[in-house]
Amino acid sequence: MPVLITKFDPWKSELCTCPPKYSFNPYTGCSHACLYCYITSYIPDPFHARLKKDLITRLKKELRTKKIDTYISMSNSSDPYTPEEAEYKATRKCLEIFKERKIKVLIVTKSDLVVRDADIISKMNASVSMTVTTLRNDIAKKIEPNAPSPKRRIMALKKLKENGIPCSVRFDPIIPGINDEKIGELVAEVSKYCQHIVSSTVKPRRDSLRRLKEALPEVMEDMQFVRMGNSYYLPSYLRYELMKRVRDACNVHGITFAVCREGFDMNTAKTCDGSHLIPVRQGRGDILL
Ligand code: SF4
Repeated sequence: MPVLITKFDPWKSELCTCPPKYSFNPYTGCSHACLYCYITSYIPDPFHARLKKDLITRLKKELRTKKIDTYISMSNSSDPYTPEEAEYKATRKCLEIFKERKIKVLIVTKSDLVVRDADIISKMNASVSMTVTTLRNDIAKKIEPNAPSPKRRIMALKKLKENGIPCSVRFDPIIPGINDEKIGELVAEVSKYCQHIVSSTVKPRRDSLRRLKEALPEVMEDMQFVRMGNSYYLPSYLRYELMKRVRDACNVHGITFAVCREGFDMNTAKTCDGSHLIPVRQGRGDILL
């Protein structure tokens, strides 16, 4: 059986500025079925989430010998709150295990289902990174068809904040002509509940580019890309302009900002992915500063 907790591997991307971390996915595949998702390039039947076999037994066994000296990012190749999680509660069980062992976790999701586990997360060394790409339901439905609506994600951020859970937002990806119009409004809205935004422009791989072109031909057909490694990047001036708009809005609203794999020196936070927000709690939820 392959190991469950692996060293985070950004495909040797020179533009990745993530701190050393581990990756852990309770599920293989993800049912949110985002148009731009890159897992379709390496996971069979990618948009049908399957619970990993003997997950809990294997995780406990692995943690007997493995020392997690940084933090676990959960998840990078699936959403830990893919719709199936409502029934399986596997992510919840994994969080319990990490909590007992005081393992630091960055929970990366697009789902308000994460609020169900606020009772555990609020006692963990954990932070939530919620992806919000637009405030408009119609756009979200097009690009992230099976993920909860933007309104539900923002309500989730509000509830997480009320539970004392530090949150960041992934405003990722920004696709010009699709979700770049209301950058200031989005940042204003989420900044009420989060302390940090990490953002990125769209960087499709060959298969996700095909999907985007099929679904959004009027915008994608004429979009100019430059190939970098396995991904297609927008021209540098456009990427910088979009990232600057997000950063400026973050500055206005008093939260920190970072880019993801853009190669621009414009971050205002200690980490890009928001992992600097992971608290160190002692006993009954006290936070050590
Ligand atoms: S939520 Fe993440 S892993 Fe799931 S389909 Fe969307 S981009 Fe892919």
